[in-house]
Amino acid sequence: MPTSPSAARGAVSTLTVDEALDRILARVSPLESAEVALVDALGAVLTEDAVADRDVPPFRNSAMDGYAVRGADVKHSGVTLRVVGNVVAGSLPDRAIGAGEAMRIMTGAPVPEGADTVVRVEDTDNGAELVAINAATPKGIAVRQAGEDLRRGEVVLPRGTVLRQAEIGVLASIGRGKVNVVRRPNVAVLSTGDELVDIDLEPGPGQIRDTNRHALSAAVRATGSAAFDIGIARDTADDLRHALGNAAFGDVVVTSGGVSVGDHDHVKPVVNAMGQMDFWSIALRPGRPLAFGELRTKRGAVPIFGLPGNPVSALLTFELFVRPALLKMSGRTKLHRPRVEARLLDRIDKPVGLRTFARGIYDATAGTVRSTGPQGSGILRSMSLANCLIDLPESLSAAQPGDAVSVVLTDRQEDH
Ligand code: AMP
Ligand code: MG
Repeated sequence: MPTSPSAARGAVSTLTVDEALDRILARVSPLESAEVALVDALGAVLTEDAVADRDVPPFRNSAMDGYAVRGADVKHSGVTLRVVGNVVAGSLPDRAIGAGEAMRIMTGAPVPEGADTVVRVEDTDNGAELVAINAATPKGIAVRQAGEDLRRGEVVLPRGTVLRQAEIGVLASIGRGKVNVVRRPNVAVLSTGDELVDIDLEPGPGQIRDTNRHALSAAVRATGSAAFDIGIARDTADDLRHALGNAAFGDVVVTSGGVSVGDHDHVKPVVNAMGQMDFWSIALRPGRPLAFGELRTKRGAVPIFGLPGNPVSALLTFELFVRPALLKMSGRTKLHRPRVEARLLDRIDKPVGLRTFARGIYDATAGTVRSTGPQGSGILRSMSLANCLIDLPESLSAAQPGDAVSVVLTDRQEDH
């Protein structure tokens, strides 16, 4: 049986993107539930059925500024009614109304007994003692019924709901200052490399600024997880061991750099000493090397991702592998960005055998997509100009203008 050079070394297995993602997702599960303040719950997944404690709205109230009347009195325009009072939001009407009567009413104010309709002020002469009604008004209009939004005792949001701003509003309206949700993952982010300097220092000769820690921390936060900055580990086993020791408090550790096969690539052996690490060569451009494994801690195994060092590769492998894992740990069930098919405007060359994610600009109106230009794995501009990834299969050597291509909409969240 022929043996590939990597198999002969016994270290590296080549996986497709989908195989690697399957393996990663098989090894992470949703975190436990925690009670959090409503203000901190945006993007989290409910672990309880949220039940309305009362009707919303709690009482019949006006949807308009105008006059509360009996519908029977305003079937025709041109009638004049006697104004018997005034009610504003936050107060109660001091009496009921009868036939031929009206009460001035403001939006949100309780509708007085006897009234079943509100004539908006624009359809009146705005009178104080008497009011002329200038438009025939259908009975029942502009009155919001008690419980028309939510009914007391009703499950208004089932467990598993992803809390967007609208759901936060619903929870506020049923008085939930605290809610039970899947706990957010805490993610430790570490850069590795002797050449890296903090961004508030001047790079010296041969040095570059540490881009990845910032970009990856932002990518972590964009998933709703919390990012913790562990700094830069130098390319020595000792320094890396120390940094990983600091990182292991997290639910997940993300490192970048040091996963190639260079002399100073210590991530894999050090993690193996502290746990276990698989080193994969992914049939992917950019971002071929990827390490995934776990650190042993007193709390149990902590998943660790060793992403490649090139800034584009680091962000792309985060998008493809780490983001779905963090979403799964956050209790989400939809882990993937929306995709569309689009017509390619330019030619993109790619290596046969590697699935390629070109950074693209998608025009939803025209249904077209074009590449962002030079696609080198160090050219971060290719990503900052992009609103999508153009997903080109392994088998192709190039995609041509006019081709229908699959586009991953990286600016959009998955559909909930
Ligand atoms: P490595 O995988 O460590 O060999 O790094 C691959 C390339 O990415 C090298 O050119 C590194 O200088 C660069 N690189 C690694 N880490 C970072 C980082 N945190 N920020 C910017 N560039 C990096
Ligand atoms: Mg390095």
